[in-house]
Amino acid sequence: MTALLEPETVQLASLEGRSVSAWFGDHKVLDRVDLVMPAGQVTALIGPSGCGKSTFLRILNRMHELVPSASLAGEVLLDGEDIYAPQRRLTEARRDIGMVFQKPNPFPAMSIYDNVLAGLKLTGRKAGRDEKDVLVESCLSKAGLWNEVRTRLRQPGGGLSGGQQQRLCIARSLAVQPKVLLMDEPCSALDPTSTRRIEETIHELKREVTIVIVTHNMQQAARVSDVCAFFLAEQGQPGHIVEQGSTQQVFEAPEDPRTFDYVNGRF
Ligand code: ADP
Ligand code: MG
Repeated sequence: MTALLEPETVQLASLEGRSVSAWFGDHKVLDRVDLVMPAGQVTALIGPSGCGKSTFLRILNRMHELVPSASLAGEVLLDGEDIYAPQRRLTEARRDIGMVFQKPNPFPAMSIYDNVLAGLKLTGRKAGRDEKDVLVESCLSKAGLWNEVRTRLRQPGGGLSGGQQQRLCIARSLAVQPKVLLMDEPCSALDPTSTRRIEETIHELKREVTIVIVTHNMQQAARVSDVCAFFLAEQGQPGHIVEQGSTQQVFEAPEDPRTFDYVNGRF
C-alpha cells in the first residue's frame, strides 16, 4: 500500500490574495482585494452578482489568465509562495488548487471510476491497479458518494443525479490531493437534500483541505464557513471587499451597514 492519502501526508495550506486587481480589457472588475484564507478553514465569498467573486476565485488557481483579454495585478500566496512567480508552473498551481463549478461537469460518458482518476495525469504520477482502487474508494468516501456508487463504478458518470454528479466532481478534485479546494456556487443547481449532503462533505473535508466557497445562500455561508468576505461593486466601480472577518462577526455584528443589509437579505 502506498502513502497516497494517509493522514501524515496531509499538509494544510493557507492561501492569501494580496492587493489583487483584475481587468477584462480596459474594464477593471476587482480593486486591490486583500484576503487571507486560513489553512484548514472554510472561507465564504459573498456579495451580489457581478461583484467579482468568480473572477477572484479564478485568479486563485490561475484560470483567469485563460481569458485572452484578462489581466491582473497583485499576488496570490499559497503557504507564502506566490503562485504567479515566474518559476512556478501553471500545472503546479492547478494541481495544488482544485476547482468545483456551479454546474456539475463530470465526463458524462466516462465511468464513475475513471472520472475520479481523470485528474491524475496532471500530477504525472503513475498508479497501479490496487493503488487506483484504493484512491477511488477513498475519494468517493470523502465526497460522501461511495455507498451510493460502490456497486456501479463502471457505469457512466452522466447517469448519476445532479447532486451525485457534483459529489463525483468533488471526488475527482480530491484525487490529485489538492491543498486548496475552490467551489463556485457548488449547490446552486441542486435541490435542498443534495445541498445538505454537499455541506456535510465540506464540514468533513476541511480537516484536510483549505476551502474557499462562493455562495449566494446566506444560510449556507453561515452554516459552512469560518471566515467570510463581503464583496461589492458599487455604481460601476470595480468589485472590492467591504468587510471581512469571522463568519460570526460578519453575520452577527457587521461593522458596515452595507454588510448588515446584505446578510439580512435587504439587497
Ligand atoms: P460574480 O461571480 O461576483 O457574479 P464575476 O467575477 O463573474 O462576478 O464578474 C465580475 C465582472 O467581470 C462583471 O462585470 C462581469 O461582467 C465581468 N466579466 C466576468 N467574466 C468576464 C469575461 N470573460 N469577459 C469580460 N468580462 C467578464
Ligand atoms: Mg460568479
